[in-house]
Amino acid sequence: MPLPMSRSALRRVKRLVVKVGTGTLTDRAGRFDRDNCGRLASELAEVARGRKVVLVSSGAVALGAERLGLVRSRGKPWDIPTKQACAAAGQPHLMAAWGEALGRHGLVTAQVLLTADDLASRKRFLNARRTFERLLDAGAVPVVNENDTVAVDEIKVGDNDTLAALVAGCVEADAVAMLTDVDGLYDRNPAEPGARLLRDVPRVTAEIERSAGGAGSERSVGGMITKVKAARRLGAQGVVTALLSGRRARALPALLAGEPVGTVFAPGAHRLSSRQGWLAAAARGKGVILVDAGARRALVEQGRSLLPSGVRGVQGQFGVGDPVDVAVDPARPFARGLAGYAADEVRRIAGLKTGEIERALGYKYLDEIVHRNDLVVLETGRE
Ligand code: GLU
Repeated sequence: MPLPMSRSALRRVKRLVVKVGTGTLTDRAGRFDRDNCGRLASELAEVARGRKVVLVSSGAVALGAERLGLVRSRGKPWDIPTKQACAAAGQPHLMAAWGEALGRHGLVTAQVLLTADDLASRKRFLNARRTFERLLDAGAVPVVNENDTVAVDEIKVGDNDTLAALVAGCVEADAVAMLTDVDGLYDRNPAEPGARLLRDVPRVTAEIERSAGGAGSERSVGGMITKVKAARRLGAQGVVTALLSGRRARALPALLAGEPVGTVFAPGAHRLSSRQGWLAAAARGKGVILVDAGARRALVEQGRSLLPSGVRGVQGQFGVGDPVDVAVDPARPFARGLAGYAADEVRRIAGLKTGEIERALGYKYLDEIVHRNDLVVLETGRE
């Protein structure tokens, strides 16, 4: 029987992001599991032969709590500053553990700390990308985590599943392997009798998201749902996601040999360009361009650019080159792009024909308010 597309594609992966969760790096008592870290390091070294590998590793909070002697009473989550303090205390030890474990296999590690705010800025995103590139060229393994000291609320990624997806976009990875404390995605909570492991997920449907909803592990930050959502977003960018056990020996090398381990989420047919990937996943719209139904159809169904004639209005302030959302209903943007005109200019040319731009403004840059190459249709745009 031929292998499903996504599994055989895993054998050709050249750039891989591996996300290791807290549950994989700590034992049941919440202590750092050096043995598992060491075993994973040897498998990472094996898969890094002939591939570029970026590691996104959690575990800083757990390691820091251990160092600071903090014990969490059951059911009582720590407040945010306590978690931040734990992350700050634990991060150097997390790096030391990976540095030592991967160093035994001749690999050099490098620490990269990011926040959602960093990646939302095109400039900082490109700076991060150049750093990653240089590290990968030098044969190093970047080890990424969220910069928890400065990241709260709106500037925070929040969980490393989502961070891994953003990093995959930044380094243009072909695949993301998420190592967790279960064997993959089950059709219901894996602790329930009769739960079935889903091997290949062709598309993340609402039903798949529902089955992931209840099935988390106590020690993982995001549970299953953040993994499934990250897989859905990665699929839309043309990236394969695999969910597999971080405790089962040789699961990762087996996955990359195309063997039936874990759950593999098939990618969509289109590979977004790096800029479109950034727009879809990392960027935030600085304003909203409101359009009519005809413009929506032209953008979503016909792959056209946004022209002034379909524009009904503008919300917010943005300059030329800033990311903007495009919406019929401002609460549900269906596309995001880079503005070809500033907000005040768009207000003045809204509804006009392209031939009228120059008369209205006294000058003209281009016909398009958002050019097709600078535009990406968001998931909410594809019903
Ligand atoms: N940054 C956190 C840590 O290193 C983990 C966040 C997550 O696991 O999603 O502990």
